[in-house]
Amino acid sequence: MDQPEKANMDVLISEVGPRDGLQNVSSIMPTAAKKAWIDAAFAAGITEIEVGSFVPAKLLPQLADTNEIVSYARQIKGLTVAALVPNSHGARNAIDAGAHKITLPLSCSESHSKANLRRTHAQVLAEARTIAEMISDLPAGSRPHFEGSLSTAFGCTIEGEVSEGKVATLAEALMEAGCDEVGLADTTGYANPSSVRRLIERIWSSVGKEALTGIHLHNTRGLGLANAYAALEAGLTTFDSSLGGLGGCPFAPGASGNLVTEDLVYMFESMGLSTGIDLERLFAVRRLVQDALVNEDFYGFTPEAGLPLGFTPTTPRPTN
Ligand code: ZN
Repeated sequence: MDQPEKANMDVLISEVGPRDGLQNVSSIMPTAAKKAWIDAAFAAGITEIEVGSFVPAKLLPQLADTNEIVSYARQIKGLTVAALVPNSHGARNAIDAGAHKITLPLSCSESHSKANLRRTHAQVLAEARTIAEMISDLPAGSRPHFEGSLSTAFGCTIEGEVSEGKVATLAEALMEAGCDEVGLADTTGYANPSSVRRLIERIWSSVGKEALTGIHLHNTRGLGLANAYAALEAGLTTFDSSLGGLGGCPFAPGASGNLVTEDLVYMFESMGLSTGIDLERLFAVRRLVQDALVNEDFYGFTPEAGLPLGFTPTTPRPTN
């Protein structure tokens, strides 16, 4: 599939606001406003967006238009369109809509898995196998990238500690089921920089470096950026974040606030790492989305403080 070039970028920011953000706010954003958000984010330099989730509309009315949004986003050349799927039925819809990347969450805590997906580990792994077979039946050029996301990888609000060995075993099981890659997700905001580094190395030793390149972090306890830095130092290159820190996980009590895209981009750009994203344009996206979600809280320090005097981003500013 026509995956965009990732050249000239040191790190890839995967914007999850239209899915993870909108899934967890009470407002229902009109379809036209979502399209405007995606357009503006792409214009700011964001090249991967998780645009929705293929769940029944009665469960998540906020994401009822995911099919239309995926089809719309697919027309933007150079944008990787990602979607979450809870099962193989959702994956079929995501494939039909043309998603470049589909992510199946597997909660490392089985209690959380039952609460969140209403499925045991064995059932989720069976779904993963079905999805992998579905993808392998497609012509070689039109197969979406299939990621198994290890959620609650750093701890669970129901079970507490989740052992690294268990996460590694589940990572192996997802790869054996046919995933192209696994991702780590700190759904509950339990991670710290040391556990991030340790778990990345543990998963790499189980499934290989190519099978884990990205992480999904929350800022629940204020460690989001520190954890992102630890993941960067360990060698990960893809980071999920949400505009304004919108979203979190409704099944993890107290866990609110994804990593804030604006602050994450600022951190990397100020460190000399290219994100491909223009911060001034990103702030404009924030204003656009704030205007469409007037009842929601937006987080982030950099957009409030503004850029430092004389700040030179690593990504060159667009000329037009
Ligand atoms: Zn999240």
